[in-house]
Amino acid sequence: MTRIAALPRALVLALAGLLFFAPAAAAQAEYNRAARFPDVLHADVDRFWAEQFALVGRTYEAPGGVVRIDGPVLTGCGRADPVTSAAFYCVLDETIYYAGDFRDALETIGDFGWIVVVAHEWAHHVQYQLGIDLGPMVGQNSGIGDLAPIELEQQADCLAGAYSLDAEATGWLDPGDIQEAIDVTSLAGDPVGTPFNDPFAHGSGEERVASYLNGYQGGIGACDLAL
Ligand SMILES: [Zn+2]
Repeated sequence: MTRIAALPRALVLALAGLLFFAPAAAAQAEYNRAARFPDVLHADVDRFWAEQFALVGRTYEAPGGVVRIDGPVLTGCGRADPVTSAAFYCVLDETIYYAGDFRDALETIGDFGWIVVVAHEWAHHVQYQLGIDLGPMVGQNSGIGDLAPIELEQQADCLAGAYSLDAEATGWLDPGDIQEAIDVTSLAGDPVGTPFNDPFAHGSGEERVASYLNGYQGGIGACDLAL
C-alpha cells in the first residue's frame, strides 16, 4: 500500500479532498476487497459490514484501507505518530491507521485480540457512514453530535462484539479467541478517575468489556445503531 508519507503534502490534501467530495456514484464503484484489504482478517470485517448494509438495502462504502505506520506519517487528519497513536480512524480520508509495534505486541496475545481493535475502528467508519458526527478524528467531535465521545466508543466496542458473534457463527474463530478479545478490551480501559465527558474517554476496562459482550451476545441489534 502506498505510504501517504511518501506523497507531497499538496497531493495528499488533494486526494483527501477527492475522497471526501467524491460523488456517491463514483464512491460506490466496485472495489477489489482482497487488494484493498490484503490481510484476510481485515477483509472479513469488511465482508461483515458489506453484508449488514446490503441486508437493509443501504449502500456501503469500504474504508480506504487499514494502514500500518512504523514512523510519523501525514494522514488526511494531519501528522500521526505511532508512538502516540496506537490505532485510530480518520474521517477525512476514511482510513484506519495503526502503529506497527502496537499490533505486534497485541499479536503476542493472539490474532483475534488484534482483530477486535480493527473491528472497533471499523465501527467508527460505520458510524461515519451512517451520518454520525465524529469530528475529523474520533474524540474531536463538535460536542453537538448525536452521541458523546464515550458513547461513540462504547457503541464501537459493542459493534466489535457484534462482528465477533458473526465471525464465530461463520466458523472463523479458534477456541480462546473471544477470551483474547475480552483481555485486549479490558486492558484498553481508561485510567481510574477519567471523567465521563473527557473527549478521549472510552470507559473503564469493565465497561468496555460489558459493551463488547453486549454486541457479542446480542448482535448489532444490541448496539443501538440506526442500521
Ligand atoms: Zn474508538
